[in-house]
Amino acid sequence: MNVHADYSISKLNTFGVDIKAKYFVEISKEQDLVDFLGDENLRSLPMFILGGGSNTLFINDFDGVILRINLLGKEIISEDEDTLIVEVGAGEDWPQFVNWVVEQGLSGVENLAYMPGTVGAAPVQNIAAYGQTQADTFVSVEAMSLKDGSKKIFTKDQCKFEYRSSIFKRELAGDYIITKVRFELSKDPQFDTNYHSRYSYESLQKWLTESATPPYKPKDVANAVTKLRQFKLPDVKDWGCCGSFFLNPFVTVEKFKELQEKIDELQFYPVTEMEYDRIDWHDTGKEQIVKIPAGRLLDELGWKGKWIGNVGTFERHALCVITKKEASGKEILDYTEAMKKSVMDAYGVELISEVRVVKS
Ligand SMILES: Cc1cc2nc3c(=O)[nH]c(=O)nc-3n(C[C@H](O)[C@H](O)[C@H](O)COP(=O)(O)OP(=O)(O)OC[C@H]3O[C@@H](n4cnc5c(N)ncnc54)[C@H](O)[C@@H]3O)c2cc1C
Repeated sequence: MNVHADYSISKLNTFGVDIKAKYFVEISKEQDLVDFLGDENLRSLPMFILGGGSNTLFINDFDGVILRINLLGKEIISEDEDTLIVEVGAGEDWPQFVNWVVEQGLSGVENLAYMPGTVGAAPVQNIAAYGQTQADTFVSVEAMSLKDGSKKIFTKDQCKFEYRSSIFKRELAGDYIITKVRFELSKDPQFDTNYHSRYSYESLQKWLTESATPPYKPKDVANAVTKLRQFKLPDVKDWGCCGSFFLNPFVTVEKFKELQEKIDELQFYPVTEMEYDRIDWHDTGKEQIVKIPAGRLLDELGWKGKWIGNVGTFERHALCVITKKEASGKEILDYTEAMKKSVMDAYGVELISEVRVVKS
């Protein structure tokens, strides 16, 4: 186990924020974790588990240990006529994993192509894009307790996936390090390319039709998703960015009708058509709640393309906060707080950060 003191992680988070970890430990094999947990001094400090840093905003130097998960490897666990189960190291690069899957002609994660991050972080916030989520193919994770070093398998039910959330982001946040993830992939592709929005350029089917000829293969869909994302989203090589900064909010149907009076053709997604459940929806009844696009609210309020100092919003996507390399975590936080306040003042809707904000 290599321990670095006062270690800058500016290249290890996609906002490029230059903060230092008091201690930085790279976990490249399970023994590193065992050694770390055996070090009483280190494990008594605050800890943060870091994957690719593409969903995390650091505000200050971290007065504890940042554990960078770099556990690699892929193993085929079982296979039959229709499916294949693969176990993947948590530190594997997610987009490379998707490329590997589609290269084998397998499907289930093709709509999640070209999304930055690690395999281990995918179940934490239950990544999703273009109508597909990692939960669709997820089987289980193997995780190690940071409290006592015990290993535990969490099945899909136990992970309690919700919209951009799981037990690892809520009840057990920071308690377990995910070391391996299993996915069940299909040999008989059933593509879902129906994703659309009010912007026709976001039609996945259109990008697919223009870039490939039927019968489509998983690779064709992944390529179309990649092209669409390259067009629509900022490139993290050019800008600091963590994708969508805010979650799409849930509002009551009554509130939605009030918003429709102010915003033309405001879209909504009925909660009853979403496969995720949330405990707090049950009091009001799910059918009375809808999900609305946060980007549209921000767009209406003039945030798209707006810059304050080193922080701005991407011109094609009002939910994507982008930064110049000089931007500090505090500047980014101030900008996003101003976005939140303007939405609250104008529409009475609370925006909740999708990005994990680490303040100490
Ligand atoms: C340009 C861009 C576009 C994006 N588009 C999308 C999108 O379409 N859909 C979407 O869902 N997300 C999107 N994201 C967000 C991001 O890709 C995902 O959240 C990704 O899963 C983050 O992976 P990471 O390894 O970088 O996570 P990190 O930022 O390193 O960590 C995220 C969280 O997971 C925890 N964590 C990380 N690894 C582990 C582990 N091994 N064990 C336990 N906890 C862990 C961390 O402590 C932290 O709380 C986008 C990001 C960018 C930059």
